[in-house]
Order: sequence, then structure tokens, then C-alpha cells
Amino acid sequence: MINTGYDPLQHTSVYHGKEDSDDSDGEGGLGNVNRQIMRPPGHSGKAKRGHLCFDASFECGNLGRVDLINEFEYDLFIRPDTCSPRLRFWFNFTVDNVKLDQRVIFNIVNISKERNLFMEKMTPIVKSSSRPKWQRIPKKHVYYHKSTVHQGHYIFSFSFGFDKEEDIFQFALAPPYSYSKLQAFLPVLDKKASHLKESFSRELLANSVQSRRVDLITIGSLDPAPKSKAKRRIVFIMARIHPGETPASFVCQGLLELLISSNSIASILRDNVTFKVIPMLNPDGVFLGNYRSTVMGTDLNRSWHVANQWLHPTSKAVIDILTILDKSKDFQLDFVIDIHAHSSLTGCFVYGNTYGDVYRYERHILFPKLLATTADDYAAGNTMFNSDATKAGTARRYLCSLLSDKVNCYSFEISIYGYKLKGSDTIIPYTEESYMRCGRNLVRTFFEYYTNTGAIAFHITAEVSSKRTRSRTAQIRRRNQKHGRNRTPLTGRIQAQLHFTNLNINYDSETSLEDCTYSYRYTSPRKAFDKISEQYSLRKSAKSNIEQKHNFRSDSPIPTTYVVLPEPSLTVIDFNVMSRDDIDKVSKVNKIQKKSSQKFDFLQHIHQIIHTLSSSSLR
Ligand SMILES: [Zn+2]
Repeated sequence: MINTGYDPLQHTSVYHGKEDSDDSDGEGGLGNVNRQIMRPPGHSGKAKRGHLCFDASFECGNLGRVDLINEFEYDLFIRPDTCSPRLRFWFNFTVDNVKLDQRVIFNIVNISKERNLFMEKMTPIVKSSSRPKWQRIPKKHVYYHKSTVHQGHYIFSFSFGFDKEEDIFQFALAPPYSYSKLQAFLPVLDKKASHLKESFSRELLANSVQSRRVDLITIGSLDPAPKSKAKRRIVFIMARIHPGETPASFVCQGLLELLISSNSIASILRDNVTFKVIPMLNPDGVFLGNYRSTVMGTDLNRSWHVANQWLHPTSKAVIDILTILDKSKDFQLDFVIDIHAHSSLTGCFVYGNTYGDVYRYERHILFPKLLATTADDYAAGNTMFNSDATKAGTARRYLCSLLSDKVNCYSFEISIYGYKLKGSDTIIPYTEESYMRCGRNLVRTFFEYYTNTGAIAFHITAEVSSKRTRSRTAQIRRRNQKHGRNRTPLTGRIQAQLHFTNLNINYDSETSLEDCTYSYRYTSPRKAFDKISEQYSLRKSAKSNIEQKHNFRSDSPIPTTYVVLPEPSLTVIDFNVMSRDDIDKVSKVNKIQKKSSQKFDFLQHIHQIIHTLSSSSLR
């Protein structure tokens, strides 16, 4: 994780210097409570310790009203989205002026979406000024129920005991990720990507209605594709169109950090594919602490089909750039992925489209299928393809009709709460780190996609050196004897029996393969390749450590045995242009080839993937 130098506890009030107020008039607090002190009835004068002070008048803050029920119980009202009173789910507020061991019950009484993960025992997160790491409130302290005293509405109650008088306690639905945090992160990312030179850029795509930046990050060269006639592949990713879906930003950060790293997968991807990423598409809504809306009260992901410059300048800018990329002769836009967080389902999954054209549909379902092989938290049962009329204004629906048939548009969803592992009903809550891991898994899925479809071809050729002769060995032996050296073991002098073309293997110390969830369901040359490249990397670093003319004469622990792979038969398939007949034809050819050689058949493997795709048993 890149350290941005941003203090996560610094819930910088946009209204510094204000005195504590008894009521929240909404002025200057954007409708949020503004250091509101809850005094018992009949009490006047200076607030005593234990008269809780509520505040949400800071960036991403949301708490609209507090009612004191009794000494121990408070009703809390989420502030509705700006100009959209029916949307109430995101909350984020602080409490201070607490008394040691004070115990309270908070009821959140106006959640607009009844069916949500609170039904699955999702709990809010809390941190305090002396303990800045977010923690989940234990399940036994929360209760989501229909309340007769609240007109039969579902209310979410949780109890909490304050254990430090001086601390400010912050409560939120999910880890906040503010506009300021992103603006602090991007320069750090830029600096860290300095080794990429022209292959990294950050530019201003558009300004929001309230003049906040919508950044566009480009990773990967924009030079013509390596294969002279092929178009350069483009993956377009965007996040935070819905401001309350903060996990989307952590996924996006994980993805960006891996893409700029020197990890071999990232390096190969950058050489072949260009990623264009918009980390925050609705910065006004994020700043204001809205759940889904912009400052104008619009749900951007229901308005793509009616986007205009005045109400939706950020969506308009995205449509413009996508149209240019789609029509370009030099680029091939492969993916548009819109990252969301889901409020009622667990795990990570994909929403896609259905098409009358069965071949287009088969191409469309390949990416989710590959995602299932790379992410342990993938929820196959939640992945869905539809063409509902109600979703006409979503990015995946509108953009797939706007752009050419080759473009695959998806909503990528990750639970706002947690995930279930295969065969288990226990929900493991996500953390900031596991959200970022999910972003890294997305990168791996792109790698899988492009290697499996042949857009990225890498070759590992095994070659055993046969030039060395007895006379040379004898010569070296004589020379060693002359200089009094011990005879070097023969195995230590053999050149690496591997030749990598177009590969720059250099593992990033910070982003290693080990800290990513990446499980293979099958044995592939790539798996072995990863193992070998690691050995190669070790050997390379060992080589650089010793200043000797003759390599591999060090006492360093250089691996002496290498797995020699058969040369993989990498059939180049482009699913974006192939029909079923083509696949069958190539498959037949491959079957014939296979009889005559021991080559690994990538095509059959992919073919198998497509045809075993069934609704629920992906893993
Ligand atoms: Zn969403």
C-alpha cells in the first residue's frame, strides 16, 4: 500500500473555528449535524462530560439529525442525498465529549433500503483518535429489526461503550475514501510510477459541477501495438460513480498500484495493453457524503442515456473519450468496467449484458469465468447477465449499445461487507487491504484474458547449451589448477537453460505475487513459468551481487536445477473476431496437432472454459 502521508483520522472539518452549537441548522454543515451537543432535558449552561457531541460537518460526513431518547439511547437520522431525499444509506460521523465507560445505544432509524447486508449481520466500523485503524463492532452488539415505535420501519441498532474520555470516536458504514485522499494519493502514485516514463500519465478529464477534478490515469504505452498490424488494446476502468460505495476506491487503488509496479504480470500487461482509469467519477457526491447522487441529486449510473454537459459533465466526458477510442484506427477498446460496491450481496462478482448474438454472448462471459479462477472471493451465484429495461441508464447497458460489438461492458461489484469462501456460509468481512487485493486480482484476470486469447504471446524456449566442449572444460581445469582454485562444480557453470523473449522480470519488493490471492484451477505452463521466473530472478540478483567476470562462480545459493518446459504451443485466438465455427475448425486442427506432439493445447483449454460455463458452479 502506498503511504500518501494522508492522516486518515484527520476528518478535517470544512468549518473550522466554529463553536459547539446546540442545534444543527444545516447552515454551513451541508445539512449535517455540526458539533451538536446532546444535553438532557432541563439542562442548560456548559456541557458536562458525557453530553455527547455529534459531528458530521466534514468531508464525506453524513449524519442529519440526532434525537436524545434517554440517557442511554439516541435516534440517528442519515442525511438524505443532496436533492434526492429518498436515498439514505451512507453514514459517517464522530462522537466526542464522552465519559469513561459510558454505554449507549444508537438507532439508525431512516435507512432507505430495507433489504441490505445488515440482515446478514453486517456491523458498522469504528475507530478513535488514539486507535486509527478501523475495527468492526462485534456482531453481538448489533440488531436490525422492525420497530413498532418507528412506524414499523426497519431500524439498525448498535450498542457501544466509550473507553477513553479524550478520544474522538468515528463511526461509518464502510471505510471512507474521500476526494482529498484520492488527490493526496495520485501525486504519490505519479512519483512512484516515474520509472515508467511515458507509459504513465495523469490528466484532467473534466471538472465536476462544483469544479472538482476528474482525473484520468493512463498506464501503458500509447505507441502502436508491438505486432505491426494489430491495434493497441485498451482497458477502460472507472470507479466511484456512487459516492457511498467507498470499497470501489480501494479496489481501484489496489489495481493502480499493481499496474505501475515492476511485477512481471504488470510489466507484460503494460507492454501490450493500455489501461485508462478514472478513479473517481462523482467527486462532488463523494465530498458531500452522498450515497448515490451528485450535487444536483442525479444518480449518474441511471442517466448515461440522457447525459448532458450541464448536469452530467463527467459522464459526458467519458462518453466522448470512449467514442474516440472506439472509432480509432490505432486502438481496440476491449473493456469498459465500472466498479461498484453492493449493499445487499457478498463477495465480488460481475453484472453483464445478454445478447441475441450467441457468439457475442460467449465472448462476453469469458472475463467473469476467468475472474472466477483468480479470485477466492468471487461469488459465482451473484454474477448476472441481463437486459432489464430498468437498467437502461447504467454504464454497462448504455455503453454496450453506444460502442462497437467488440467492446465488453460490465459492472464489477464488490460487497460493502464481506465474502464467503467456497463451501462455507461464514462471511469474512473485507478490510481496506482485502479490497485492494481484489483490485490486484482484476489485473491478474486481464493477464489471464489476454494470454488465453492470444493477444499477449510469451514464449519460453528451453535450450540446453551444447557448445561447451571437453577441451574448454580441460582448459578451465588447467587454469584453475594454475591459480590454485578449487574446481568449480560443473552444475554451477551451466548457463540458465532458459531464454525469455520480451520479458523484463523484476519483482517489486513491495508488491509480490505472494501477497495476492491467485489460485489456479489447472496446471498450465504459466504456473511453471512463474516458478521459473522466480528462480531466474533470484539468480539474476545473485549475479549482480558478485562482481566476477565469469558468472555463476559465486558461493551464493544459486539454484542448480531447472525445470525445462516443453515449448508451449500458443494458438493465437481472438475471441473478439471469432465465431463458433472458427473455434471448432481451429480445435480440430489442434487435436490433430496434439496427436503428433506433446504440445500444450491452450485452445482446448479455453474451449473447455467456455463450454463448462454454467450458472452457479464456477468454482
Ligand atoms: Zn453502485
